[in-house]
Amino acid sequence: MLNFGELPFIFSAPDLDRLAIHRHDDVQYAAQLADSTTRFVPVCGDQNVLRGDGITPLILDVISAQSLIAEAHCVVLLGNFQGQTYLALGLSNGIALSGDTLTLTNLRPQFGKLDHGTLTLLGYARAMVHWHLQNRYCGKCGAPTHSRHAGHELHCSRCGNILYPRVNPAIIVLVTREGRCLLGRQLSGNRYSTLAGFVEPGESLEATVRREVQEETNIRVACMQYRASQPWPYPASLMLGFHALAENTDTHCNDGELAEARWFSRADIIQGLRNNRLTLSTPQSISYWLLREWFEETGEFTLGNFNPVDTHDARS
Ligand SMILES: [Zn+2]
Repeated sequence: MLNFGELPFIFSAPDLDRLAIHRHDDVQYAAQLADSTTRFVPVCGDQNVLRGDGITPLILDVISAQSLIAEAHCVVLLGNFQGQTYLALGLSNGIALSGDTLTLTNLRPQFGKLDHGTLTLLGYARAMVHWHLQNRYCGKCGAPTHSRHAGHELHCSRCGNILYPRVNPAIIVLVTREGRCLLGRQLSGNRYSTLAGFVEPGESLEATVRREVQEETNIRVACMQYRASQPWPYPASLMLGFHALAENTDTHCNDGELAEARWFSRADIIQGLRNNRLTLSTPQSISYWLLREWFEETGEFTLGNFNPVDTHDARS
């Protein structure tokens, strides 16, 4: 049995100390901004910044970041990672950074290239900067909002409205029945993955699992079990992973979100991977681990023996 609590899913390295208790200490925050050991993670628009080699993130020291801090639309305390304190710098898309050739990108192409800690830091920076960009004006009165508490609150100075960063919960589920698992193929591409969908207002996680599986595949599920979670910063989701047992096997893509819903035995998966007709999610994703846990529970096979490293989308 895999131990999910010890597995570093993508964007969820456990050794980032968010320093939450320091966010309300304005004096310490100001000192941290000027500290020579502090490092800054620039985010331009909605995108992370890599150096010219395309795989090294641009991380700035306090001297390099000084002029950018004044131009940034937000500065956010991320926390301490491996003994160093990091802050995110929210910059406009057109801002000039350094003489180096830089690449503005989302992080999907970096899965499998950057380590979990770096991806966690960059994903967190991107999520916080995106939140600032999306909440520049108060939703109640329309006045500009102002950042406070190290970038973790936005405050409306006209009506006093306070905004906090939020995440959107989504379920992701591997459905199984009698030695087979149910995977869905998206409308584009050849990737088969677990089923997923957002939790709606007023809905429990269990109800979301039942609804999403029925909508996407016509399968009724029961006996669901929560397994683990993975953040997804595009833009601000938390995927809550489940296993569930199916009550029927006749699939139909009711809502048109999937091109196909199909049952796979372990032998089907092995054959599909061997002849390159089956592509799975990246091995760092919760989707892959949900599949792997079921795949390996008989003790006969190890999924990694059949699946080549995949560096694409970790959501599905
Ligand atoms: Zn307001």
